[in-house]
Amino acid sequence: MTNNTVYLDNAATTAMRIEVQEVLEELFGSYWANPSAQYASGREARAKLEEYRSVVANVLGVSSKSISFTSGATESNNLLIKSNARRLKDAGKGNHLITGEAEHPSVYEVFKELEGEGFEVSYISLNSEGTYDLSELRSSLRDDTILASLMAVNNETGAIMPVKEIAEILHEQDIFVHSDYVHALNTEELAFTNTNVDAASMSAHKINGPKGIGLAFQKEDLPLRGLNQGGYQESGRRAGTESLILAGALAKALELLDEERDDYRSRMLELSEHLYSGLDAAGIKYDTNVTADKVNSIHNVWFEGIDSSQALIKLDLAGVEVSAGSACAAGSLEPSRILTAIHGDSPRIKESLRISFGIYTSEEDIERFIEVLKNI
Ligand code: PMP
Repeated sequence: MTNNTVYLDNAATTAMRIEVQEVLEELFGSYWANPSAQYASGREARAKLEEYRSVVANVLGVSSKSISFTSGATESNNLLIKSNARRLKDAGKGNHLITGEAEHPSVYEVFKELEGEGFEVSYISLNSEGTYDLSELRSSLRDDTILASLMAVNNETGAIMPVKEIAEILHEQDIFVHSDYVHALNTEELAFTNTNVDAASMSAHKINGPKGIGLAFQKEDLPLRGLNQGGYQESGRRAGTESLILAGALAKALELLDEERDDYRSRMLELSEHLYSGLDAAGIKYDTNVTADKVNSIHNVWFEGIDSSQALIKLDLAGVEVSAGSACAAGSLEPSRILTAIHGDSPRIKESLRISFGIYTSEEDIERFIEVLKNI
């Protein structure tokens, strides 16, 4: 990326913060021993790893024992959903699962795989506002429902899902609740503990940490058997030698996010006001693709008459990086499953862009985007 690049795709990934890079540099030269080794340097590495785990747990307001480090949210989603669905089924509790149309492929496709294993799955649809309807959730409940996974914030639209209410409804029937929290961590209302979910996934690279590390939260009194064979790390929840270096970086990224949450939220509001007032001033016709409550860092906008795949190329040539849906969907040029779930077969599915802000986004970035778009 050159210095002139305008990066407005922070929902796909974020740049690593300087402070996080400093932690990585510091740890690279030291603490390289295996945290499972019994000698002094191994014990030191173990102590450091546990220190980072407790930093993470404190920020999230949960116990250290409920946190496992993984390679990212894809792995956490696979682990938490598959392991718990199979455990509850094996215990004879039932065979019915619930998820939704808004879910990221690392959740959605896990349920498709579980269907192949013989589970029955209900997929909650999205309403016209872009969120899950609690009435549909209630009517999908069955006596043999054992687990549900419904995300906290949608990665394509920024829509905030009613996770707290979802967890309440599901817990009345003792159903295990998992939620993909990847885009929810900087919104106060959605802190893990506020919503009482049983398990949640997150990823460091969406909060200015490094790629290759995430975490799986699961209440410590609920059993979790790891999917990998061949090791007992992370209390048996995730086999494989832990990356102390990446855990340190994740802890730093989360700590900073927690310290700066209020500033971050007001900054995102300022930037989104700048986006829409700029579009109005430039006379560009647009419509937002969701009307539900949403985070201010992610915007999915319909620009009528502008083919999004063409627009992406032209914006890229002008050094402006945005996306047409999720990153994966953009690569395959498939129409977005999420937008289709909200709007059906509307032209807006192929005429929409996702613009997403981060801590390094400036007003000038937004102005440059609008200028290039105006020419398109
Ligand atoms: N869930 C959501 C909502 C996401 O946006 C992403 C990243 N695109 C993931 C899961 C996967 O995260 P990771 O890249 O850490 O595997």
